[in-house]
Amino acid sequence: MSTLLVSCQHAPEKYTLADYQNVPKLDVHVHLETERPLFVDLAKEHNVRLVNVSLEYTKGWEDVFRKFAFGLNQHQAAPGWVDMVTAFAVSDWDDPAWESKTLAWLDSCFDAGAVGVKVWKNIGMVSRDTAGNLIQIDDPKFDPIFAHIKSRGKVLMGHLAEPKNCWLPLEEMTTNNDRRYYGRHPEYHMYLQPDMPSHEELIGRRDRVLEKNPDLKFVGAHMGSLEYDVDELAKRLDRFPNMAVDLAARMGQVFYQTAENREKVRNFFIQYQDRILYGTDLADNGERTREQLNQAMEDNWKRDWEFFVTSNTMESSLIDTSFQGLDLPREVVDKVFYQNAVKWFGLVD
Ligand SMILES: [Zn+2]
Repeated sequence: MSTLLVSCQHAPEKYTLADYQNVPKLDVHVHLETERPLFVDLAKEHNVRLVNVSLEYTKGWEDVFRKFAFGLNQHQAAPGWVDMVTAFAVSDWDDPAWESKTLAWLDSCFDAGAVGVKVWKNIGMVSRDTAGNLIQIDDPKFDPIFAHIKSRGKVLMGHLAEPKNCWLPLEEMTTNNDRRYYGRHPEYHMYLQPDMPSHEELIGRRDRVLEKNPDLKFVGAHMGSLEYDVDELAKRLDRFPNMAVDLAARMGQVFYQTAENREKVRNFFIQYQDRILYGTDLADNGERTREQLNQAMEDNWKRDWEFFVTSNTMESSLIDTSFQGLDLPREVVDKVFYQNAVKWFGLVD
């Protein structure tokens, strides 16, 4: 209805920087780990709805319960502004009750309104069974969990593997943010751990899960860990029609490829306009000031709006070269910044 109205009024085909405030946007990848309303209050001012994402960090189920509780609290305080993706832990993987416990937990989250389930890079890279083997995402023990997520009409969100930079020495990494992150987190820097699985192995295991579960709606967090080349990502999107990706924390790689070949990146966003969900990985643990949080939002949401809607020449601390905005048609911008998330997660519009 509104589409018809817009086309009849000959609305301009492109947005401008000035439209930022007025156009509804949705960030599918934030981490709110606080009960204070500040982040959501600011997001409302930026006209950005949020999907809060839980995960198993280093403390197993305790992390999962705690992070989901924060999301639920924020959802209940601001319905219509915050939705939530839950998670489960594999810390008790070899416990015979693991499967039934996990299914019961997920059901309780779905009943509370969770729209999806996230699996994190601990699967494949950190968590081990009692025999000391890494737990891998294509283990048949996950099959009933994935089948259940699908039967409840929910989405599996997967941050599996890492950006390819993770397997490179710091000086060969393409983005400054990856260089900073792995400099600070040598435990996740796979270049330093040659006995750990390769990027290709982890992506291959993820792909096998999608092969086994063709009807499962899947969102590959962080550009499905194929952020280094939109052509590689395109191959997976062609192969798996129920796969979409979010852009969280990988705009540096988008900028890097845009600096090298803007037409290629622009064509990718146009061709896969129904499969790309905007996200950032912005977080609030309750410690930053209003000004700091607002600055982070400007630095991400507003920067990315400028990149997608204008053809401005831009600079970013994420990479060392300048690049030009993609100047995408407004229907593509609307899909990436809002409609795809609503559709993919089945959110109330
Ligand atoms: Zn994240």
